[in-house]
Amino acid sequence: MASLQIREVKCKTLLHDLDYGRSSEYTANFYKGCSHGCVYCYVPSLIHDERGWGTFVDVKVNAPEVLDRELRAAEPKVVFLSSASDSYQPVEARYKITRRCLEVLLKHGFPVSILTRSPLILRDLDLLKRFEWIRVGFSISTACDRRYEPGVVPVERRVECLRKLSSVGIRTWVSMAPIIPRLILTDLEALIGRLREAGVSMVMPGLLRFEWYEESRKMFEGVTGEAWTNFLEDGGPTLHRIRELIKTYGLDGSSDFFMCESRGRDRKIDSFAS
Ligand code: SF4
Repeated sequence: MASLQIREVKCKTLLHDLDYGRSSEYTANFYKGCSHGCVYCYVPSLIHDERGWGTFVDVKVNAPEVLDRELRAAEPKVVFLSSASDSYQPVEARYKITRRCLEVLLKHGFPVSILTRSPLILRDLDLLKRFEWIRVGFSISTACDRRYEPGVVPVERRVECLRKLSSVGIRTWVSMAPIIPRLILTDLEALIGRLREAGVSMVMPGLLRFEWYEESRKMFEGVTGEAWTNFLEDGGPTLHRIRELIKTYGLDGSSDFFMCESRGRDRKIDSFAS
């Protein structure tokens, strides 16, 4: 893999609205790019950057100051970290932008929802525990090995992080996405059982799809050497089986899980970026 290019940049704005029809929230991306480099990631199709996906990270070094300014005038809503990057990708260990932004969010009393693939989130346990409302999710795809997720830790480590987070009272969930029916590299029933045992409250499945993500489709097909639609064979039955397992292990119930009564909002996730 090419070496990682890190660039320090300044942003003018940070908070963006995410609308889900009957509910909405904010999202904030502290980094542009992601060194996890997942080959199915939809973000390259959104940001259209000529640099190779997984080879660059732009660090928004003034993010805490911009967030502080924006939250003063913001309508109270859940802030989702993040829709187009992983807030805990390895570069965060050095820059601590996410940590400083969590401090800002705490100061302003905003509820937070985090989705990551990185154990670095445990570094901030002291802050996460202080939020009145918080949800933390880990993404686990069925293509969970280094060929398809070169910068991501093994699933076992992600499950251990979920266990640790749950054990201190943080509500946790798993975005099981993308599900790639012909690329299932784990025992799904054993995984869902382990998630239950680790204290996870909810699992939300999502099938691979590239209909609106042309650059991502090309990236995926470049690595696999096959049309992505070939991988969807048995998509319906696979999804049905996973949904049944989720129900059997008592891990369904997404609408209640994301209800944030203190802010009068609920939310749904419809993506598989971290
Ligand atoms: S799917 Fe998430 S973790 Fe993977 S490269 Fe995209 S933003 Fe990073």
